[in-house]
Amino acid sequence: MGKICCTAIVLAAGKGKRMGAKIQKQYLMLKGKPVLYYSLKAFQDSPLIDEIYLVVGAGEEAFCKSEVINKYGIAKVKKIIAGGKERYHSVWNGLQEVGGEGYTFIHDGARPLVDGTIIERALSEVKRYKACVVGMPVKDTIKISDKDGMAKRTPDRRNLWMVQTPQVFDNQLIKKAYSLQMGEPYINVTDDAMVVEHMLKYPVKLVLGSYENIKITTPEDLEIAEVFLRRKE
Ligand code: C5P
Repeated sequence: MGKICCTAIVLAAGKGKRMGAKIQKQYLMLKGKPVLYYSLKAFQDSPLIDEIYLVVGAGEEAFCKSEVINKYGIAKVKKIIAGGKERYHSVWNGLQEVGGEGYTFIHDGARPLVDGTIIERALSEVKRYKACVVGMPVKDTIKISDKDGMAKRTPDRRNLWMVQTPQVFDNQLIKKAYSLQMGEPYINVTDDAMVVEHMLKYPVKLVLGSYENIKITTPEDLEIAEVFLRRKE
């Protein structure tokens, strides 16, 4: 049997309002290179990944092509696509390029510390389960609050994970789940696994990622990412 095609959709169309910077977080510099470079490079360097679709803010395509793709030689990028209003709109736009048999890795461009080991672990699980997401068990106790900020419930920490990306799916499964989702009224879709859970009631396997696979969201995350990157090098 030939190798099954593995596609990465890398998302970089967010506005990054929580960062409070003029420039979007995926273009902020981390050890002299844009955050997005590191996310793309991990998929570029993994022999398991065949092609990359990069989703960026509408109007940023040319900038991204010259300042990231061409500048750093990310040759697996087949197309740069304009994203949408919310993350799940951007995913949907990326999924339009995916077809046939294979697996799709959906990854936040703002997670520069993904690596080949995580990609490999996720691929081996998606082959078995068709739907898997990378994450880590939480270290802190988590509270559910009411609208007044009062603690309502304390779920058992042993069952709680913080979910990361990549989130990896059989192509047809994720396309079906998203096509159903897009016909639904807006709910706060914050990851891809929840689309599969809600729309198809399909079980999603949790796969160990890494505590270092952080998402750059607020300014201190950049400093933390720099420490982790330095250690990797
Ligand atoms: O907003 P959040 O931190 O969840 O974003 C996660 C990833 O999704 C980021 O890499 C961001 O660029 C991307 N995103 C997107 N399109 C949006 C919103 C977020 O591609 N409309």
